[in-house]
Amino acid sequence: MLRRTMAEFDIKAGLQHVLQRIDEVSMHRPKEIIAAKPILVAVSKTKPAEAVIEAYNAGQRHFGENYVQELVEKSQHPDILSKCPEIKWHFIGHLQSNKINKILKLPNLHMIQTVDSKKLATSLEGAWSKLEPEDKEPLRVLIQINTSGEEAKSGISPSEAPTLYNYIRTNLKNLQLAGIMTIGAYGFDYSTGPNPDFVSLMAVHNSICRENNLPPESVQVSMGMSNDYEKAIEMGSSIVRVGTSIFGYRAAKA
Ligand SMILES: *Cc1c(COP(=O)(O)O)cnc(C)c1O
Repeated sequence: MLRRTMAEFDIKAGLQHVLQRIDEVSMHRPKEIIAAKPILVAVSKTKPAEAVIEAYNAGQRHFGENYVQELVEKSQHPDILSKCPEIKWHFIGHLQSNKINKILKLPNLHMIQTVDSKKLATSLEGAWSKLEPEDKEPLRVLIQINTSGEEAKSGISPSEAPTLYNYIRTNLKNLQLAGIMTIGAYGFDYSTGPNPDFVSLMAVHNSICRENNLPPESVQVSMGMSNDYEKAIEMGSSIVRVGTSIFGYRAAKA
């Protein structure tokens, strides 16, 4: 196994293992699953800049952070700026409206995966349109859906998600609506059947594609973490967010 103690965790080996599993599983998806080859987002939260650089040097480009302050620090870290010019940051945490301006001006921000209300989407649209240069690309976003219905989790309900999707797609032209995302409940027992969070997200995906006449592979699906990214890919995930299996265990957040 690749797991060692944190200090000696081999990031390159962890990364290669995950990439290999992504390849293998996505090649053997059931025929009815039509989805893009998954993108790996390496979740570097709580890990130092050196860990990001090590993964970058091993070829990784997409990285994810879930705390605004940590993304602010890492994305502007002088070593990361100089050594990782092609890095693509994904914000995967809860975004409060008063933090929007902090996030949007960060270098190499690639995508915000956690848009979960009309209000947040509209604020992002407004803030992005005010940033220089005026001819920049639209801001990539995903709609976060609370498939498990847990109160502690952010996200719009599965039933309201298609309406928010249509709203953003029709009205907010500074946002590039790339797809949908869920975190889901932790510790699902796969011996009992398919993960209901993944089933629910794929059902939302299906309605969005049908209502808008979109090919399934054009609406991205972000689901799956260290312990279930393979299951998620089998069901149609096109973005997996993996931390522990690449960087080793995290110390609990103080
Ligand atoms: C921490 C985190 C992950 C990665 O979790 P691991 O179990 O370490 O792979 C994925 N998505 C989100 C939103 C996270 O906060």
